[in-house]
Amino acid sequence: MEFEPVIGLEIHIELNCATKLFCDCPNNPGDEANANTCPTCLWFPGAAPRLSEQALEKAALLCLGLGAELQPRSAFDQKVYYYPDLPKGFQLSQAHLPLSRGGGIEILDEDGEPRRFRIHHIHMEEDVAKLVHEMDGRLPVSLVDFNRAGAPLVEIVTEPDFRSAHQAMEFLKVLRTQVRYVGASECSMETGTMRVDANISIRPKGTDQMNTKVEVKNMNSIRHVGDAIAYEIERQSAAVGADEAVVLHTRLWDPDKRVTVSMRGKFEGPCVPDPSVPVIELSPEWIEGIRARLPEMPAVRAERLTREHGLSADEAGMLSTDPEVAGYFEALMGAGVAAKPGLHWLTTQLLPAVKERQQELGETPVTPLRFAELLQLLAKDSINANTAREVLGEMFESAAGAAEIVAARGYAQISDRAELERVVAEVVAAQPGAVADFRSGQGKALGFLIGQVMQASGGKANPKVVRELLVGLLG
Ligand SMILES: [Zn+2]
Repeated sequence: MEFEPVIGLEIHIELNCATKLFCDCPNNPGDEANANTCPTCLWFPGAAPRLSEQALEKAALLCLGLGAELQPRSAFDQKVYYYPDLPKGFQLSQAHLPLSRGGGIEILDEDGEPRRFRIHHIHMEEDVAKLVHEMDGRLPVSLVDFNRAGAPLVEIVTEPDFRSAHQAMEFLKVLRTQVRYVGASECSMETGTMRVDANISIRPKGTDQMNTKVEVKNMNSIRHVGDAIAYEIERQSAAVGADEAVVLHTRLWDPDKRVTVSMRGKFEGPCVPDPSVPVIELSPEWIEGIRARLPEMPAVRAERLTREHGLSADEAGMLSTDPEVAGYFEALMGAGVAAKPGLHWLTTQLLPAVKERQQELGETPVTPLRFAELLQLLAKDSINANTAREVLGEMFESAAGAAEIVAARGYAQISDRAELERVVAEVVAAQPGAVADFRSGQGKALGFLIGQVMQASGGKANPKVVRELLVGLLG
């Protein structure tokens, strides 16, 4: 019998707010353990949680960015469970009246066709504390860090629409881009600001029955999500094939062994309305105010980049996945750089150089205006590509402009034919072997001779002119 998987995703996203969800403590989980705490987020009895306006706005922006419908009325519930990372015994979450319903994302399916995957709802909740397991001498100890307790989260719950690991991975990539666009979160699976649980079940292909699902957690990259889903599909198919029942439970992905392993479940109790946090009522005016703050979303931007700058759909799509990169590219265009060389130099030279120096594109000293000056020298043939790469390296260290560096270092490209003719003649005289090879039809010899002329000119010769001169002289 052939099986097909039925997959739904639950995605937790930590909002990049300045403070926590219900108090004014800094939302910096990475600070010294328990530095960012107060009676509210330590969950002392009697503490009065007060919903952060910024968290509500960012969550609402995220919902609208994903095409969801904000609900006029939403409320918090107490999700009861007990665990050392939640000593108050319940988590404030929106179980019954979520912030938004509906929404979805269009991705390209395996066959290249656009296909929409639906979101069931999006709700807000508080994060729990972090458990740290250490050794105190020979004694294992578990410590609790409350910096993360009460951090603002949203949870995006999809419909069980996915039928392959590929679809789930593509969905997550587009989702991450869209959330970054609205500025609600960095969405890093590595650092835990985006966490994904996958609910996976299988059924005979072509039927619409819903079978017992297994929840898989602990993936810290989108690739791991795909690997874990693929593994789980195989595992469940084998179990059903051997007449074993699939039982409802949670499994953890082990990235080293590349398997999912069964995990003991936490006790999960009921969900009851919380009396302490007021019901959230959103007026149509407030919702429209948030909608007005939505930026141009990636698909729309990609379409515009194609139209305005003649990029291919692939180029524009790739560029638009990162708002910072797309913004940098548009600033280059604004400074008069041509689209194709601008894109090429941005992606193959500048971005790797910025990454190598562990800088952020928004903070690099090589601003779009400075980079544009360099690319214009290149476009005018004032310098060659090799020199441009060298000048770029120097621009990271110095505040001087590209033209200034070129002048100070005597990097200007030699395009003067008379001067180059002299160097070419010298090289031709000194390399009779390569000249003979070229004349006998060995194309490689031309490259060698160009290289020799470049070297003799201190790297400053215009390679196009050198090629012309050599071919003219020897041809
Ligand atoms: Zn606090």
